[in-house]
Amino acid sequence: MGDEFTPSALAAGPVLELAPYLPGKPLADLEREYGIVDAIKLASNENPYKLPESVQAAVIDGLNDLQLYPDGAGFELRAALAQQLGVPAAGITLGNGSNDILVLLAETFLTPQVNAVYDQYSFVVYRLAVQATGATARIASSRPRDHEQPLSHDLDAMLALVDRDTRLVFIANPNNPTGTWVDRDNLYRFLQKLPGHVIAVIDEAYHEYARGNDFPDACEWLGEFPNLVVTRTFSKAYGLAGLRVGYGLSSPAIASLLNRVRQPFNVNILGQRAALAALDEQAWVTRCCMESCAERSRLGNGLANIGIASLPSRGNFLLAEVPDAAAVNEFLLQQGVIVRPVANYGLENYLRISIGSPPENDRCLRALAAFAATR
Ligand SMILES: *Cc1c(COP(=O)(O)O)cnc(C)c1O
Repeated sequence: MGDEFTPSALAAGPVLELAPYLPGKPLADLEREYGIVDAIKLASNENPYKLPESVQAAVIDGLNDLQLYPDGAGFELRAALAQQLGVPAAGITLGNGSNDILVLLAETFLTPQVNAVYDQYSFVVYRLAVQATGATARIASSRPRDHEQPLSHDLDAMLALVDRDTRLVFIANPNNPTGTWVDRDNLYRFLQKLPGHVIAVIDEAYHEYARGNDFPDACEWLGEFPNLVVTRTFSKAYGLAGLRVGYGLSSPAIASLLNRVRQPFNVNILGQRAALAALDEQAWVTRCCMESCAERSRLGNGLANIGIASLPSRGNFLLAEVPDAAAVNEFLLQQGVIVRPVANYGLENYLRISIGSPPENDRCLRALAAFAATR
């Protein structure tokens, strides 16, 4: 009695080492804090275009069934994905966003005795998922700024970190926050060299934006590499970030392990219905991606015109190089434009700008030009 209660003394060790995920600033927060209306958010790589009627109708129809648990096995959605991707449904694991799949992989394969490998500037969720298990993170240096693919994954450096105790290697393709990518030949050679006791997790959250002959579709190699897992999401090109639906593709043997750890009802009813409807809207998805890619070039050129370099990107975002990123970010917030500071990635001199609609991108460029004019 009377002793002070200190929950941190009770927490599992690795939890104390975690830094919480920093999301893009919500629009409502900015408007409340700065007394602004009509702010725009280019901070979370969301699809800026309006969803097809069919997807909205599927969600509205789902409202009739909210008293029911969702189908825990996601039968219909997995069947539709299997058909579309030409993979067995038994190798598909649905997730509450693909973030869920990344965490399931860590929970399934990592312990404090083993390690996982990822790149220095890769998606921060790898670090969070690995650290939470108490496993060791072995972090590969990215290519240098003056490389022809600046800040991209160095696959040889990653392979060099693999040892007997490595269980997972994460590769985001394209990577967030850099926008960099690994081409088909290099990724294939990497998978060939990776020892069989290591699972390669190829995170294809931005796959739909990155089409091109040189660009791999790692799904094609699932039959060849039983230690391959590909993760995809409905949050980006499919425009369903708010509903949280992603999936992992793997051998049925890996899927059955993930399924033991997975929460039974991890994907909600509205998410399952919307994702199913969105799969039937391929023409819309393709159009969104084409428009975002065209806007990505336009935004990149607009940035260059005001003296801001950005990295080559195959995602729906650009990593812009601004020496005074914190000041630029603050100025943009005052102008009602939310972008993403990436200092938490160790990228203090950069801001990540999601590709918005044409008027949103124009507004971002105008705000950046206004900042340049203050200097
Ligand atoms: C956005 C993103 C994800 C996953 O997002 P979910 O909404 O959880 O599907 C996964 N990987 C990368 C690299 C991302 O940028």
